[in-house]
Amino acid sequence: YESKKTLNTITFFQEDFREAYKYRAQMEQELKQAIVLDEFYMVYQPQIMRNGGLFGVEALVRWENKTLGMVPPDKFIPVAESSGAILAIGDFIIERSFQDIVEVQRDTGINISVSINISIKQFQHKHFLNKLVKLIEKHAFIYVELVLEVTENLFIDDVIGIQAIMHKIKSKGIRISLDDFGTGYSSLSLLSHLPIDELKIDKSFISEITTDPKTRAMVEGIIAIAQQLNFTTVVEGVETEEQRQILQSLECDIFQGYHFSKPLKVHDLKTFIQSPTVIVSPTPPGISPPD
Ligand code: C2E
Ligand code: MG
Ligand code: MG
Ligand code: MG
Repeated sequence: YESKKTLNTITFFQEDFREAYKYRAQMEQELKQAIVLDEFYMVYQPQIMRNGGLFGVEALVRWENKTLGMVPPDKFIPVAESSGAILAIGDFIIERSFQDIVEVQRDTGINISVSINISIKQFQHKHFLNKLVKLIEKHAFIYVELVLEVTENLFIDDVIGIQAIMHKIKSKGIRISLDDFGTGYSSLSLLSHLPIDELKIDKSFISEITTDPKTRAMVEGIIAIAQQLNFTTVVEGVETEEQRQILQSLECDIFQGYHFSKPLKVHDLKTFIQSPTVIVSPTPPGISPPD
């Protein structure tokens, strides 16, 4: 009886595995055509400063495929990274973000910052910065702040190389944000060795901040370290007023989450920016310019 049960379990896992594998292979296949078929678009989530003013937006990619439907970026970005499709998709993301933000700035008369998520493969590509600068020029993209978000756990393999790329990027006046901070395998020493400007505290901490005193203490500690090291602190996944108040009292600089707004399509972003409750200024105050 026991062995039969085990056998069933194994068969069951194999089925699961086969399904997952098939799905992944299908995603990989569909990703090849996705740009040509115009299946990607960008949404933008507002980022609000401590003083209540609008700082800018984070650009987030969306993929709607005819057979797979909406596939979340958490699912397809890793596949695109391993297949190599991420390079073309990453170029698309940057270019479309510039186009959209230029349009929003033109139509609203308000200059906002934009934060773009960059996959490590993209970041390490030898022409990355050249292409980025060319795209900025091509779209006459005027940025108050252009921020590149990268995740910490991917740096472990080549800290020296990453350091060099980051310095070049910063020399162009572009800021670097460490995304999902606290979730990876990073060590605190990365913070003193990488020339980053911004720490983005992962949303998993924020969801527990009102219920778990230990989490709250950790977030407090992270913000204190960030302040000492002169990093701007950003929190993602702020969903409630209670969370906002705690983070406000901890002197976090920038807030992002459903409490303020979901990620918006271009049209809705324009409406959001122009709504009377949103405070805007020509340049984001309180955030120091890149050095
Ligand atoms: P991320 O960069 O940490 O983005 C934050 C994620 O949290 C986004 O999910 C956003 O929609 C979601 N979020 C925002 N506010 C809230 C909130 O209040 N509560 C909760 N529960 N979630 C919230 P999304 O758009 O599904 O993106 C997931 C991840 O996929 C991103 O994490 C990023 O790692 C990756 N990704 C998204 N867009 C891009 C992109 O354009 N390029 C690259 N390379 N990666 C991307
Ligand atoms: Mg991000
Ligand atoms: Mg994040
Ligand atoms: Mg993430």
